[in-house]
Amino acid sequence: NTFAEIDLGEALNQNIRRCKYVKPTPVQRHAIPISLGGRDLMACAQTGSGKTAAFCFPIISGIMTGQPAQRPPRGVRTVCPLALVLSPTRELSMQIHEEARKFSYQTGVRVVVAYGGAPINQQLRELERGVDILVATPGRLVDLLERARVSLSMIRYLALDEADRMLDMGFEPQIRKIVEQMDMPPAGVRQTMLFSATFPKEIQRLASDFLSNYIFLAV
Ligand code: AMP
Repeated sequence: NTFAEIDLGEALNQNIRRCKYVKPTPVQRHAIPISLGGRDLMACAQTGSGKTAAFCFPIISGIMTGQPAQRPPRGVRTVCPLALVLSPTRELSMQIHEEARKFSYQTGVRVVVAYGGAPINQQLRELERGVDILVATPGRLVDLLERARVSLSMIRYLALDEADRMLDMGFEPQIRKIVEQMDMPPAGVRQTMLFSATFPKEIQRLASDFLSNYIFLAV
């Protein structure tokens, strides 16, 4: 079982080789084909399981084969990412951003990160240069939405990473506010991936509210 056997496209496969990934981890082996097949997914995954690649590969592949992102017209400062990755902390967001950038090298897919506890101005400048995949913490994203600097109207892929930790940190109201803005996107159906280490009732409720006809994966 190798990545080359999964239909991810040549550019992405080259980046995977560059990262020295040879064999998919269990969560990757199962989650990637499910997501490439267009199904929503709720996956049990711990830190270190390779979950970042599990949600990044289908997103990058989908963006590469789908409609290109719209650059905002001159003077308009609201950007419309095609994919959103929500993560609980600044550190995790930075890690995801770093990995996603390696995976999207020379694919034309642009990844931008936005987290709290850091000045917003540089993040705004990065966003203005265009964004396909936005990696963000919930609080900072709500701020960007309120400033009308980001619109979620074009989101086709949503990944919630470490969802249990986001709830533990009290982010549920922000997450709900964010996901409400993506309901019935003009871009068509949204595909959602939820990753969590644990599955208490609160996570199951999020899954039934945000995912449709999803596959549950426990590896
Ligand atoms: P994650 O669980 O996504 O934080 O990944 C944990 C670590 O494993 C990261 O350093 C990844 O770069 C690495 N990794 C993920 N998938 C693979 C793979 N298929 N082969 C080798 N290393 C991997």
